[in-house]
Amino acid sequence: MIETKKIYLDCAATTPVDPEVFEAMEPYFNKIYGNPSSIHSFGREARSALDKARQEAASFFNCESEEIIFTSGGTEADNLAIMGCVFGSKAEKPHVITSKIEHHAVLSTVEHLERKGVIEASFLGVDEFGEVSVKDLEKAIKPNTVLISVMYANNEIGTIQPIKEIGRLVREINKQRGEKQRLYFHTDAVQGVGYLEADIKALGVDLLSMSGHKIYGPKGIGLLFIKSGTEIVPILHGGGQELKKRPGTENVAGIVGLAAAINKIKSQKSKARMTEDLRDYLIGEILAKIPDTILTGHPKKRLPNIASFCFKGVEGESILINLDLAGIAASSGSACTSGALEPSHVLSACGIEPRLAHGNIRFSLGKFTTKEDIDRVIEVLPPIIEKLRRISSIH
Ligand code: PLP
Repeated sequence: MIETKKIYLDCAATTPVDPEVFEAMEPYFNKIYGNPSSIHSFGREARSALDKARQEAASFFNCESEEIIFTSGGTEADNLAIMGCVFGSKAEKPHVITSKIEHHAVLSTVEHLERKGVIEASFLGVDEFGEVSVKDLEKAIKPNTVLISVMYANNEIGTIQPIKEIGRLVREINKQRGEKQRLYFHTDAVQGVGYLEADIKALGVDLLSMSGHKIYGPKGIGLLFIKSGTEIVPILHGGGQELKKRPGTENVAGIVGLAAAINKIKSQKSKARMTEDLRDYLIGEILAKIPDTILTGHPKKRLPNIASFCFKGVEGESILINLDLAGIAASSGSACTSGALEPSHVLSACGIEPRLAHGNIRFSLGKFTTKEDIDRVIEVLPPIIEKLRRISSIH
């Protein structure tokens, strides 16, 4: 039997660890294993690796080392940003604004705080391309608004949000507020950091979350940029690690890996352009070859690596299974939970009707994706959709 090459097009879910990142991490498992809080030489060696990683991350984001807090990943960074600001605020009932298309790490945190009666919350809608309107955002701001959390780029459809414009608006509001409660701006940049501008000062954000495993770093590590002066309290309680903002013995190997992955981003800019070309090739061919198909997200303001489609009259999960049988890994925004197909909250917010949203497939490319990989998708996908449409019960 001839082995067909397996094709991985699910880089927005996770990426493989880059071999150089893996190499950088290796000594920190069993050679340089001290606790960075210990004062002996073993501890000091680990501490210096930690300090170096923090400096490297800070240099990438154009901020100070003390503004970088390592966390267990994007989810914890989002939770720390939101809960930390809410519990650090002096407002009697803080108001938080977010969008309807955030990752659940943001959405569920805000919903939880709202359900518990801790905050008031506003969930901004988006247009058909998944873009937040800065005008709508401005209208939603109230005197007790303490935090705006809008993601940099969406993980399902790839749409990039007007972060700089929101940053400018927040600065204006803070000028008017003077000494009163500051309004903070958080962005979940988990999907954006590998491809988009990351200069914190240019973006004008107060808080920014990122994750290692989306940028060819390890899983279980991430960071939160917290602009100095931001009133934020820890959400975990314990020791004084991470500048008293995130207790727990540091994941030194993970942090070293995260910094190594961050360091590689700049040198990968030309690869990002290749990824973008391959994505456009995929989009063009799929739309031309498969009728009754829509591309989700913004036609231009989108991440270079994400192409997500809705195919009329089929179920995303059936497409996924068929692609998997052909050796191609992708993902779907609609998940089958307890027998009922739940259309993705992102696609619903874009106004895509449930019947169409059910037929969603996301291809997320990476730096190892080749033209041959995309050619294979273009070869196998049209007959899969045709076959499924023939036998489908969705019309
Ligand atoms: N935010 C976004 C936009 C994501 O895509 C993800 C992961 O899929 C997360 C947050 C969560 O990051 P982590 O898996 O590191 O907890």
